[in-house]
Amino acid sequence: MPNYDVHLLSGIVTYPLAIFIAFMLRDHAGVPFVLSTTAMVIGYALYVLGSDLPDMDHPNALIHRGTKPIVSVAVGSAVFIQSFGSINIGEPWLNVTAAWGFGALAALMAWFAFTWVMPKHRGIVHSLLFAAVYGLLGYALVEFGLGLGRGEALFAGFAAFSGYTLHLILDRGVSLL
Ligand SMILES: [Zn+2]
Repeated sequence: MPNYDVHLLSGIVTYPLAIFIAFMLRDHAGVPFVLSTTAMVIGYALYVLGSDLPDMDHPNALIHRGTKPIVSVAVGSAVFIQSFGSINIGEPWLNVTAAWGFGALAALMAWFAFTWVMPKHRGIVHSLLFAAVYGLLGYALVEFGLGLGRGEALFAGFAAFSGYTLHLILDRGVSLL
């Protein structure tokens, strides 16, 4: 099975092929992609990230270990924001510190939950269904998060989906579910 470097490098060098396919789909199948510079640069990042993202389901994979602290911090911060304001046990410094106490506890649980809930290696995370979910997230990020046009978002979603699918092809494990 290809490792971290091979997966990422394959994403890094095959992007022109994804660009080519996008142009073909636009000009011969009527897909309304808009390949602006911004869309293509974001697409590149999503494509390359996607080319290793499926190995998130492997506890020892670099992408798994790299994603874990990000998820943990995001959960901890969300819990801090939620509990801050509803905690009133004394002075402001005490309330803020206590709210971070809850945040840190939630972050700790998220840290372990991330490994526990992740389906087993080369299960559903290594599927076209997840490639489609990742593509949708890329699309939503660009249209609603960054406020770019729909055609640019469609292309970014396509790039994300393609990068993820490339990983499955290299693993020789393309499955629908
Ligand atoms: Zn894999």
